[in-house]
Amino acid sequence: MADIAGYGVGDQPVIGRIFLVQRNNLDSQIILASLPKKEALAKLTEAIQIVASDFSNSINTSQDSTLQEILRAQLAILTDPELSSVIIDFINSGASLSSAIDSAINDFTSLLVGGSAEFEARIADLKEIGSRLIDAAAGKSRKLQFPTEGEWIVVSDDLSPLETSQFTSAIKGVVTRDGGPTSHTAIVCRQLRISAVVGCGDISKLLSNELITLDPADNAVYFGERTIENSGPWWKKLPIQKKSIFRPLGNVGSVKDADLVRSSQAQGVGLLRTELLFLDHKNEPSVEEQIKIYSEVVSHCPGGEIIFRTLDAGTDKPIPFLGLGKEENPALGLRGQRISWIRPKFYENQLLAIRETGAKFSNRKISVMAPMIANKEEAISFANSASRLGFDSIGIMVEVPSIIEEISTLPENIHFLSIGTNDLSQYLFAADRQNSSVAHLLNPWQPILLKTISRICNLSKTRGIKVGICGEAASDTLLSAVLIGLGVESLSAGAGAVSDLVAISQVLSPSQAEAAANIALNSISAIDAQRSVRNLLSSK
Ligand code: PEP
Ligand code: MG
Repeated sequence: MADIAGYGVGDQPVIGRIFLVQRNNLDSQIILASLPKKEALAKLTEAIQIVASDFSNSINTSQDSTLQEILRAQLAILTDPELSSVIIDFINSGASLSSAIDSAINDFTSLLVGGSAEFEARIADLKEIGSRLIDAAAGKSRKLQFPTEGEWIVVSDDLSPLETSQFTSAIKGVVTRDGGPTSHTAIVCRQLRISAVVGCGDISKLLSNELITLDPADNAVYFGERTIENSGPWWKKLPIQKKSIFRPLGNVGSVKDADLVRSSQAQGVGLLRTELLFLDHKNEPSVEEQIKIYSEVVSHCPGGEIIFRTLDAGTDKPIPFLGLGKEENPALGLRGQRISWIRPKFYENQLLAIRETGAKFSNRKISVMAPMIANKEEAISFANSASRLGFDSIGIMVEVPSIIEEISTLPENIHFLSIGTNDLSQYLFAADRQNSSVAHLLNPWQPILLKTISRICNLSKTRGIKVGICGEAASDTLLSAVLIGLGVESLSAGAGAVSDLVAISQVLSPSQAEAAANIALNSISAIDAQRSVRNLLSSK
């Protein structure tokens, strides 16, 4: 029984002393409360320069391309003249420097609440920028001095990318109070291959300098030193199979991801998130501009199929050029393919640009799929638009549960399905994917999610189309065996997890996958499923 339980990231147990991150910028607010207006304006300029230089230094010293990208995005927000102009407006209308920064950040974040992992990460970015600006203006250094020797486990409410970018080689693990399977910290730790247990809730018993053991494979934190049986990657000791039983693919949202996926020897790209290529576009990109952007990414992708996903934005995801309004429940509103109802021209142009990109790479298989398809009518409308343009590999995402019962009668010009487990879980369990209070329902080991995936696979078999998974579930190395046993043909993982998938694809046998799927399907809880499958696969 774990002393503290959360959601584990990684396979490797680690033991280390606690490096406790405590932060509070209350005294900075007091320092800044009485600054006269003129001084506040000067301090703002100075603070922006200090924080920008912190970001630039971390970009230059970071070894990890994903982190560098996140930090670059943060630097772009920090130096966006729009942000400083809103802060200045608040100062001019009488607010203190710290509350002007807070109010401006709140204005910006209110536009983003309720979106996908990428947009939620942007909220964390904005809050981090606000709190850093306040401390810099008050003359306080925010640099965390991580130890450089020994073995340490960082314990914190949550961690920002700037903080994770400062990790030294002495940092062996991470425990956080907040976050869940798809949170920023989980994604970065997976990328950095640092074991973590996130979303633990109460972490107040974890005291500075104490020794703890993390067993991420069992979602557990233990006080003191523990020996963990059957630990480490389960697939390492298995013999190579003659034939691989699934295609390991990678998810791509940038040229950097494409490079990483290619160097991991993936057999293709299972999800090219096109919206991530336009996050900073204030004007709608023309067909020619899109072709240029897509071609750059494709030229860095591995050989094999590349599945382009049409823009998955929404009013909650303010892709600036879409100029959409605010919604009460954005996850249930105009997002994904639904935006084509009101901006059909953009979607037509996007398909055209993808087709033209494909024509430039005639040796590549370019497929296209639509997100958030909810019924047959939407599926047919998308497939017909893509067919008319000459696409011969067309798919839809299965992430809105209502489409599942239509699978067996989908038309001939739909050739594949891709399960988005992040959203499928969100809508199946009525659990906001950004809300850490309900994160346990979004654990991809939930037997109900697995039963749903099994049903999707069975229905697809009757219709004769293949199914892949491109949600975060595909990045879970133990769960991958279960997903293949359920009948999935390809798994597309986050760029950092693809090399493990490639290794698993070389050793996983049909009987292991089937046994893993059976055990997981018949488990009573997510934790039970994960534990039973670990015991099964580690005992081989
Ligand atoms: C998903 O929902 O699982 C998915 C892959 O799409 P996104 O995370 O981009 O919404
Ligand atoms: Mg989705």
